[in-house]
Amino acid sequence: PAGGSGGHEHHGHALPYRDATLPTATRVADLLGRMTLQEKVGQMTQAERGDVAADPSLVTTWGLGSLLSGGGSVPDPNTPAAWADMVDTFQRAALQTRLGIPILYGVDSVHGHGNLLSATVFPHNIGLGATRDPRLVRKVGAITAEETRASGPQWTFAPCVCVARDDRWGRTYESFGEDPNLVESMETIIDGLQGKPGQLDQSRHVLATAKHFAGDGLTSYDATKAGTGAYPIDQGVDQVDRATFDRLALAPYWPAVQQHHVGSVMPSFSSVDWTEDGLGNPIKMHANRELITGVLKGAMGFDGLVVSDWQAIRQLPGDYRTQVATSVDAGVDLFMEPYSGSSVGAPDFIATLVGLVQDHTVPMNRIDDAVSRILTAKFELGLFEHPFTDRSHLDDIGSPEHRAVARRAVQESQVLLKNDSGTLPLDADHPVYVAGSNADNIGNQAGGWTLTWQGGSTNVIPGQTILDGIRHADAQVTYSEDAGAPVPAGADGIVVVGETPYAEGFGDVGGPQWAYDPGDHGVPRPAKTMELSDADKAAVAKVCAEAASCTVVVVSGRPVVIDPSLLGQIDALVAAWLPGSEGEGVADVVFGTAGFTGRLPVTWPRSVSQEPINVGDADYDPLYPFGWGLRTEG
Ligand code: BGC
Repeated sequence: PAGGSGGHEHHGHALPYRDATLPTATRVADLLGRMTLQEKVGQMTQAERGDVAADPSLVTTWGLGSLLSGGGSVPDPNTPAAWADMVDTFQRAALQTRLGIPILYGVDSVHGHGNLLSATVFPHNIGLGATRDPRLVRKVGAITAEETRASGPQWTFAPCVCVARDDRWGRTYESFGEDPNLVESMETIIDGLQGKPGQLDQSRHVLATAKHFAGDGLTSYDATKAGTGAYPIDQGVDQVDRATFDRLALAPYWPAVQQHHVGSVMPSFSSVDWTEDGLGNPIKMHANRELITGVLKGAMGFDGLVVSDWQAIRQLPGDYRTQVATSVDAGVDLFMEPYSGSSVGAPDFIATLVGLVQDHTVPMNRIDDAVSRILTAKFELGLFEHPFTDRSHLDDIGSPEHRAVARRAVQESQVLLKNDSGTLPLDADHPVYVAGSNADNIGNQAGGWTLTWQGGSTNVIPGQTILDGIRHADAQVTYSEDAGAPVPAGADGIVVVGETPYAEGFGDVGGPQWAYDPGDHGVPRPAKTMELSDADKAAVAKVCAEAASCTVVVVSGRPVVIDPSLLGQIDALVAAWLPGSEGEGVADVVFGTAGFTGRLPVTWPRSVSQEPINVGDADYDPLYPFGWGLRTEG
């Protein structure tokens, strides 16, 4: 591809903003001084890949500052080279604009570059929280960044630094855990993603995003409003006092900003309500000037960019003009405004905001502040010097070295909840009988945000299932998903049970908030509950009755309910979380190649009716407490 010196103002000698020897602030000020209002507002606009895929010249026409791939919005074929071609095509269009300002391309690399078929898929954050290993998590961030940037995108909407307080929430697995200190200790992932300050431009790092600011994991569920969507857990209302909000919602942002220098922050769809009974007037975070401008940009000193969540400003009160004005005033800098079936999109946003500045509703200094933050990120990423994908790292994607780190993360994330009479590790010389819905399903093992937004049981990514790992460890394996086949004499039993994938919404017991079906949007599906399916329960009962020993491995994004009668039949119980592409890591600890060291990142309740249940509660009586985890020798 051609070099990055597009822009019609580029005559003979370099303009100051193109001079890489000048300080970033000088380059930003120079460039800002050359921009028209229309160009500035274009920089504040993020469209979706699908909006411009058919006609990439729209990137030039609209003067877009940014693009994203929403979950599952991937090129065809879904290969690293096709991703790089896609991003570079949009980049070429951006460089055709008058000033040749490169675009910033964002993607949800929330457990590795999970949208890319051949990527290394790491455990979701809840599993990383179980490792209690900040150095390993930093490495996970570094590999995620390498694989993401190698294929084009320079920005990830990760990590979620939410503190998940109610496991019914459909995003519990995107959280490192229920305790703010645990979440903070895992923010080393930001260092891995971004590198040290000043390393962003080394073509191996990406801009990170702390999300969702703030209190996304603190929302209350009002069971009396089940199914009405009034107080759903996801995108709901934080019904807590200000001190609790500071301690559980804002706390992780202080180190994210001040120690890890996170480059961007995404506000939450949720609302705050400082009255504990929730009877005040809930304010959506995208309209919260006090918290975004006052606390985040003010008290915390955040100098990166604030990017709105998907069409989130359209949830604010008033007409579109009011929604835009309110969120710009609150402190949002870059606007995720995809069309996706709606009549509103990037050009509408641009026209609306230009109008608001022209009639002095929005002051120019707010626009200049927003654009400066966006341009700063682009300079620091080295996009003006190297706008196109560095293809020399394409082969590193999904490499054995990267997968080895993921496998170690899987090992360290396994939590041994119960191990009667030293059942685990199993003896690899004994026959083993494997059953259950999640033993041989890499889609279930990877969870949501894998190839598609919702993920899917049928999503097949390269990697190893847990059954593959068991087959490598033990030469005498009998596999029967429904446990219909007879259990050979003397065989140890393993039943791998748990959840099927989901993302956002869901996770409550009161009925589906959003009637989405994975891979088939719009088709209602049953609510996700924290209960095991009847088939899984039957498989456990049968194997536990017939096998020489009975181990149950739960593959899920959060605790599931294990009734006392079932628990009594189980010898060993393992929380495997959502391990991702390297299922062998589960077999490693089950057979003792590696020891169990993981500890619960969330409280494991006895029943759903105990939710929300968190360490420190009065009358805390869980099945397994926060921090629980038995150890074995590796
Ligand atoms: C989610 C964000 C995500 C965005 C872009 C939204 O639905 O809330 O976490 O980054 O989509 O895919």
